[in-house]
Amino acid sequence: MSSKKPSVDRPERLNPDLEGLDPATLAIRAGSERTLQGEHRDAIFATSSFLFSSAREAAARFAGDEPGNIYSRFTNPTVRAFEGRVAAMEGAERAVATASGMAAILSTCMALCQAGDHIVCSRSVFGTTTVLLDKYLSRFGVETTFVEQGDIAAWKAAMRDTTRLLYLESPSNPLCRMTDIRALAEISREHDALLIVDNVFWTSALQRPIDLGADIVLHSATKYMDGQGRCIGGVVCGKEAVMEEIFGFLRSAGTTLSPFNAWVIQSGLETLDVRMRAHSDHAMQVARWLEEQPEIETVFYPGLASHPDHELARSQLREDLPEPLFGGVLSFRVSGGQDEAWKVIDSTRVISITANLGDVRTTITHPATTTHGRLSPEDKDRAGITPNLIRVAVGLESIDDIREELRRGLDAIA
Ligand SMILES: *Cc1c(COP(=O)(O)O)cnc(C)c1O
Repeated sequence: MSSKKPSVDRPERLNPDLEGLDPATLAIRAGSERTLQGEHRDAIFATSSFLFSSAREAAARFAGDEPGNIYSRFTNPTVRAFEGRVAAMEGAERAVATASGMAAILSTCMALCQAGDHIVCSRSVFGTTTVLLDKYLSRFGVETTFVEQGDIAAWKAAMRDTTRLLYLESPSNPLCRMTDIRALAEISREHDALLIVDNVFWTSALQRPIDLGADIVLHSATKYMDGQGRCIGGVVCGKEAVMEEIFGFLRSAGTTLSPFNAWVIQSGLETLDVRMRAHSDHAMQVARWLEEQPEIETVFYPGLASHPDHELARSQLREDLPEPLFGGVLSFRVSGGQDEAWKVIDSTRVISITANLGDVRTTITHPATTTHGRLSPEDKDRAGITPNLIRVAVGLESIDDIREELRRGLDAIA
């Protein structure tokens, strides 16, 4: 029997209607578009360009009069499948995938801003985001005002007639401070601006910023979406008209995600819900345990009642969660200074010393000399990045082993 041309009784059954399904189901089912080969897992379309069956068809596709693939810089079915799935999970009309998290941020700003426009950005965002806005976008006449993320009055005061975007991360890195997304959505609306939330730390499994009033949600898919530290990617989600602008930039600039990376990260999405529950459960246990250790000054984890933003964190979680979950990242201050913090880090054995997060492997890092090393002493002070601060992104190893590892570290300064 030849397997070249499958005979398919009910081709429509291969791509069923997903209307009304739960986000957990959509994380596993949405976006996939099976071919008549009947592949169960999405195929990887590893092709740079696509064939047209006639000159007329080519013309119609290029003119945008008929749907269909043209060239993988901007049309690739594997990338499209990843985008469809993310949009469903974030409750967005459309998603656009990008080569990295930074490419997502760059593409969004380039597509939506022009010279003379203004951005208001939280001071507590990913360091490279600050550099992109402050050093590069400013060269093209787009000015950014950085504000204290929790100070709503400061956001309000920073708004100008030319303000086009508001940008934040919640929770923030590494102290997990929260920003009131609903309040900022209101300010943003009053000024006809767009509110952008970088949802890397919590993901759609815990928090859906669009439900809270955000216009755009973006991700470094490199982190929890992939979840296993395998590749770099990014994605932006929001309303169709806004995404079409961002897609237009990506088509011209080539800030495109590769089909292979899209395929890998799409698999990651299938376990995002269960991983985020497990990460949150482990982090909560580690946070509670750390609070009781004599070598610890303070623990920052939004799930702890002692965290200054605990209530705000709870109020921004998805309402359909079976129980409150607060993500996998926490930080803590040890007694002493940088020497002590480094000793703790160096005395762990298995935990990975790396600035990455969102991996099944637990990672440990010293923010003051790595991720936040470029900040001036005053800015570090203001951001709470003290020399004795350590960040841990709690992974999925045995919780006993994780605690044992940290105990081994703390023993070095006991
Ligand atoms: C890693 C990260 C980014 C940048 O993403 P890349 O995929 O590394 O380009 C942006 N925002 C946050 C919060 C991040 O953790």
